Amino acid sequence: MSNASKHPKRTINIDTVLEVSNLQTVFWSRNNRIYAVNGISFHLNRGEFLAVVGESGSGKSVTMMSIMKLLPTPPAEIVAGRVRLGGRDLLSLDPHEMRKVRGGEVGFVFQDPMTSLNPVVTVGYQLMEPLRKHLGLRRSEARKRAIELLSLVGIPSPQDRISDYPHQFSGGMRQRVMIAIALACDPKVLIADEPTTALDVTIQAQILELVKKLRQEIGMSIIWITHDLGVVAGIADRVMVMYGGLVVECAAVDDLYANPRHPYTRALLETLPRAGMALRERLKSISGQPPHLTAFPTSCPFAPRCPHVLDRCRRERPPQMPVSEGHDAACWWDISKGRPRDDV
Ligand code: ADP
Ligand code: MG
Repeated sequence: MSNASKHPKRTINIDTVLEVSNLQTVFWSRNNRIYAVNGISFHLNRGEFLAVVGESGSGKSVTMMSIMKLLPTPPAEIVAGRVRLGGRDLLSLDPHEMRKVRGGEVGFVFQDPMTSLNPVVTVGYQLMEPLRKHLGLRRSEARKRAIELLSLVGIPSPQDRISDYPHQFSGGMRQRVMIAIALACDPKVLIADEPTTALDVTIQAQILELVKKLRQEIGMSIIWITHDLGVVAGIADRVMVMYGGLVVECAAVDDLYANPRHPYTRALLETLPRAGMALRERLKSISGQPPHLTAFPTSCPFAPRCPHVLDRCRRERPPQMPVSEGHDAACWWDISKGRPRDDV
């Protein structure tokens, strides 16, 4: 019997570079457990730009840190899940193999380059180290490549800047250095966790333009975390919306903007500034509090804030369900028809 007929429901997409299934991460503390990530599944295709959005505390960072096994255990524990990259399950790799993946097949950029860059070492050294460690380049080759990388991310006079320390760069330039480091070993996947949040809007836009250009040139896949849907609208292929440690909606970017199917996504879109909108309207935010994550969600975590809440939402947590081709939403309410879904 062939594999396909043994698993008739599962379609394996050869273009998928990263596949996360049922990932669940908790934090242990003395008095309680924090259910930070509660069984989420998603995939990333080759060359794709996937934006991950959701308000602060929705589990975006914990998801990505779990994938890369960067969380200290304890207090963190990955209690379930699989993370497939290049035919392997990352969660079963030993620390040595995992170090080869990080900075090798997967590059990372974090929010604050001041804490991720080593302040007492030149940026040149920080660029050359992964090149020597992962690719085995000699010093002179690594130096040449480091200069090329700085130039690639748009740092002027890279041959001079290579011997500067992080504090000698502006915030935007430091973030470019972080991207250069993340790109050093030609990663298949770049994961960027709110990398431009601390920067002003013009520089944010410049960095996104740069990443867009690099993606075309290098052909890598990107996961870009942000709490601002507006920032990634012009660049993302797909958007995944998280809430309460769950994926509540995932769709191609145009589809998500045109037909948001989860009330939380709709509320997020309503908070975006639009041309001609008065300032007070722009400052509109979603009323109510984000969920406390001290119990595993057995109901919809958005129910207390949801304008369409049904009894069922409090009894039964909606899973990620397809609403159309390539679009899924975890909601019992059919927002397009204005009535509960009758097909699930
Ligand atoms: P986001 O990146 O979406 O803002 P996070 O993934 O950082 O959110 O956090 C998800 C949840 O996990 C939050 O409730 C947060 O308080 C909790 N959390 C994150 N790190 C820790 C930690 N080290 N110990 C306990 N709880 C944590
Ligand atoms: Mg975060």
